[in-house]
Amino acid sequence: MKKHLLIMLLSVLTLVSCSDDNNNSSGEKTGILKGKVTTINTHKAVGGALVFTFDNDNNIYHTYTNVTGDFELDAPVGDREIYIQTGDGSNFRTKIDVVVQENQTQQLEESLLRLDQVARIAYVSGNYDSIEDIITSLGYVAESITFSQLSDYSIVSQYDIIFLNCGSISGAISSNPTVTNNLANFVTNGGSLYASDWSVAYLIGGGSNTTACNAAGGFIPDTTLCSVDNGNSETLTASITNTALANAIGLSTLDIEYDLGSWQKIVSVDETFWEVLVRDTTTNEALMIKTNNFYDSSLAGNPVGSPENSDWITICHQPDDNSSNPITITIEASSWPAHEAHGDTLGSCTSTGTGGTIYYTTFHNHANENIGNAQFILEHVILNL
Ligand SMILES: [Zn+2]
Repeated sequence: MKKHLLIMLLSVLTLVSCSDDNNNSSGEKTGILKGKVTTINTHKAVGGALVFTFDNDNNIYHTYTNVTGDFELDAPVGDREIYIQTGDGSNFRTKIDVVVQENQTQQLEESLLRLDQVARIAYVSGNYDSIEDIITSLGYVAESITFSQLSDYSIVSQYDIIFLNCGSISGAISSNPTVTNNLANFVTNGGSLYASDWSVAYLIGGGSNTTACNAAGGFIPDTTLCSVDNGNSETLTASITNTALANAIGLSTLDIEYDLGSWQKIVSVDETFWEVLVRDTTTNEALMIKTNNFYDSSLAGNPVGSPENSDWITICHQPDDNSSNPITITIEASSWPAHEAHGDTLGSCTSTGTGGTIYYTTFHNHANENIGNAQFILEHVILNL
């Protein structure tokens, strides 16, 4: 009788553990964390943010926020540090401590999940373009610097991100090699740039804009990009060809209004160097591009950016079971030995060396005008540089 009871008990226990679907494949006990990630002061939803934590063996548990900023993370039980990051995590991130309870779902308070700015951000004022208005609308802070201050590397190197508005070049970029050398140095050492429309000249040379392929000046190899200022004012139907961008902003197509003529059409782009994120639906022409591939080894070793980043490192984390792709994260430098031990590498998974990110859009933020759904793209760019 007693023996019979014991067997019954054992089978009940077995049933319980077999039906426990909160055990992951490695057998770790887990609970669920739910929450919504928003911008710091204006509380706009942040789509496409990476939310992750580790178990005691440094296995990563991660997910992404959806278009409304919501996430649901299956996390190992116990005291955990939860990291929230956009881009490679070096410029915008938040970390909170949570006790994860086995088999329980915990709704985290929205006020704990606001995305902090750790980057020091600068912008150069332009014409008909003021990305700083969108940065401010998200609740983040950007400092104004002048075109001539780009000639001073002791100023440039203080920032993590520099926004180059359309129309911000004084005179001809080809007559300002110090500016472009400084930008090359900045990106090589991890700084990120956003350039729009005529500001393509900072990248590939020319005057205050670029009128022909292979113009003098700039710092990006001319073979990777040609843009010419012959766009007509028109409204284009655009397709978002980058899945992560489409998911983050909840759009796969949009109308982009070019209300000014002489915008910089992309004539040719080397897609092994640049990724095309948005195209003209009709002609397939690139309208928005991004690269992590600029790196000049002769300029390496001059760190840039906010001192807040000095104790943090960006790494390419290899999942232990090789079941998914490597993932770029930014973590405390003190955690590096544990990650190095399972084969992680320094720097982001997609960058060359320590190089930062460059985004270029043919469209921009016309001051005080309704830019429609392009606003969501520009917001995403700001948070993912
Ligand atoms: Zn790792």
